[in-house]
Amino acid sequence: MDTKSAANSGVPSVTHLIHHPYQAPGDFEAPQPGVFKASTVYFPSVAAMRQREWKDKTAYTYGLHGTPTSYLLEERLCALEGGEQCLLVPSGLAALSTVALATLKVGDEVLLPDNAYGPNKALAEGELKAFGITHQFYDPMQVEDLALRITARTRLVWLEAPGSVSMEFPDLLAMVRLCREHKVLCALDNTWGAGLSFQPFDLMGDGALGVDISAHALTKYPSGGGDVLMGSIMTRDAALHLKIKLCHMRLGLGVGANDVEAVLRSLPSLGIRYQAQSQAGMTLAHWWSAQSPCVQVLHPAWPDAPGHAHWKALNRATGHPGSAAGLFSVMLDPRLSSEQVDAFCDELRYFKIGYSWGGPVSLVVPYNIQSMRNGWPSHLKPGYLVRFSMGLEDPQDLIADLAQSLHKHLTL
Ligand SMILES: *Cc1c(COP(=O)(O)O)cnc(C)c1O
Repeated sequence: MDTKSAANSGVPSVTHLIHHPYQAPGDFEAPQPGVFKASTVYFPSVAAMRQREWKDKTAYTYGLHGTPTSYLLEERLCALEGGEQCLLVPSGLAALSTVALATLKVGDEVLLPDNAYGPNKALAEGELKAFGITHQFYDPMQVEDLALRITARTRLVWLEAPGSVSMEFPDLLAMVRLCREHKVLCALDNTWGAGLSFQPFDLMGDGALGVDISAHALTKYPSGGGDVLMGSIMTRDAALHLKIKLCHMRLGLGVGANDVEAVLRSLPSLGIRYQAQSQAGMTLAHWWSAQSPCVQVLHPAWPDAPGHAHWKALNRATGHPGSAAGLFSVMLDPRLSSEQVDAFCDELRYFKIGYSWGGPVSLVVPYNIQSMRNGWPSHLKPGYLVRFSMGLEDPQDLIADLAQSLHKHLTL
């Protein structure tokens, strides 16, 4: 009896709910790719199981090692950032920690910019320190300061452009050159640039200079919904990729197929969302520059902002002139009180109070720079820093919202 008649005749069996001969026709094409979910993957024979190789992405062995769905997102992200190999991890922070764990060992030192994403600094001060890996924080706006801190023990330099929260854009070109000269691995947190504002692996557009590793919080722009946590680790070196991939495998890091699907669904609109949020950010930065409680606009595309020329030099090499994400901060007059600044944030209606960025809803967070940095940075004016993340609302409505709260709470 063949399995088909077995499934359709005689006493119904639950086995036929599991082992059923029907196969849907294969040639199906639609705008969104299918979603493959698996821990177990079948092999046609024991011999095939023993032979199958998972490291080079030519086959499947186990859900953690990749599915058609995860491979697809990895390849599309390579196209976005100009990388050759990509690994997905469960969050942006997991991308940062996996890079550290894969490349550092006891006795090594890692250098981070003083304006780095806070949890990356905390990782260095916590787990890495406990594992016998030391760290130093360098001044992101002084290439000489980074140069002075590189020693024979330096194995990894983190770069962030611009820095989280205070938004100053470093001289990435000079820093990557410096790492090359010292043969030190350099890894960029590329969440803000997202592969659009500048090209991490080809900074000048002539193929001459790029970072070794780009870590990206897909949670932000690639997701675009404020509803997915995911990260990626991108390289252009097969040996370095394999080193990170083996660590990634041993740590047991995997991503859910439904989350991958959500990012795949958002990727087609990434370019226009990034551009729109970038333009909205500049419109609001321009508005802020004319408001008396604002003493400094911190936005890489703003001409007077710290590091503007560094951003501009890299942005020129892309096909997206002016693209600068939808994230910026303002420094508010130090004569205000912190209570006034908090009340200003509380009073906003369209801007929600919350972390993260890149989603459809505009966000606001006041930050205490004093507690985040090793001394007050000389390029920042004294005051209260408030960070804004552009959603997809009409910028004029956002300005009206800022104005109503500003007039109520930010009076000097
Ligand atoms: C959000 C963010 C991360 C971490 O991403 P999660 O997915 O929230 O862990 C890392 N770096 C930067 C610059 C970020 O903005």
